[in-house]
Amino acid sequence: MTEIYSDPNVLREALMECFCSGETIGFVPTLGALHEGHRTLLRTAKSENDRVVCSIFVNPTQFDTDEDAEQYPRDPEQDNQVLEDDEVDFAFRPTYETMYPSGDSTHVEVDLPMTNRYEGEIRPRFFDGVARVVSKLLNLVPATRAYFGEKDLQQYIMIRRMVADLQFPHEIRPVPVVRDENGIAFSSRNLKFDDNDWKVAAQIYDLMNEIKQRAGELTRKQLKHHYPDRFDEVGYDLQYLESVSFPEYAPTELDNDNAVLIVAGYTGDVRIKDNLPLHAESVRELEQRGFSVTK
Ligand code: AMP
Repeated sequence: MTEIYSDPNVLREALMECFCSGETIGFVPTLGALHEGHRTLLRTAKSENDRVVCSIFVNPTQFDTDEDAEQYPRDPEQDNQVLEDDEVDFAFRPTYETMYPSGDSTHVEVDLPMTNRYEGEIRPRFFDGVARVVSKLLNLVPATRAYFGEKDLQQYIMIRRMVADLQFPHEIRPVPVVRDENGIAFSSRNLKFDDNDWKVAAQIYDLMNEIKQRAGELTRKQLKHHYPDRFDEVGYDLQYLESVSFPEYAPTELDNDNAVLIVAGYTGDVRIKDNLPLHAESVRELEQRGFSVTK
């Protein structure tokens, strides 16, 4: 049975008991509407730790408007089922009031060139809100390891840097992007797809793969010149398409070993954001090869 907590202090007490008795704890922070991507993080945490804790909180401070936060998909009953099925020991479901009992005036800013680009440029409150809530969560959860998806690569890089700078003791573990049989990355936002959106999403992945196949010969200039129209033709309203270096997240030629293709845009009303390392299976593999966010 999953023990569910909404009061951070009670959660911390329960976890401290495990921690002090020498058990390892894996922590998976989420916004809920749990899907196969989250479940892979939970199962990875389960396989590497004695206990697993999952937080579910649609953090309003990382959304640009209250309306965006309200419209974020939620499915609490299905989430409960997932927590039970994956034998998650503890779930933390705070409310805004229990998470920000004294208000939200303290900011955590990860001041990197990267945090002003791409997601940082399009969603001005996003990184500030994520840094704030993740630092609070790591402060509340005495975990051995915390798990983050490569699906949100820019966020992962920022969190890794924040954890190093603020000297949190948690080991940060990346989990490669989990995709369905058509290559579509699992995302809570996919709950809003109609039939056409599913087709568009599969075609986006096909195009990303085509670029990966051509990464040895295609220049960045050609990418930026030819491919926006190709994405447009499949019905994807692009916000950005770029080849960036890991971990700087700065534009780079596609034939560089650490190049990662990043895309974001809309099909209908639903935002799709994705990435694909061009010369590795995953970012975890790039890290194993020595490309590192921290020194
Ligand atoms: P979210 O609830 O969307 O904030 O996601 C919670 C965590 O799950 C984040 O670290 C995400 O990067 C990760 N995640 C979400 N979708 C996927 C996916 N398809 N593959 C891998 N990780 C994912």
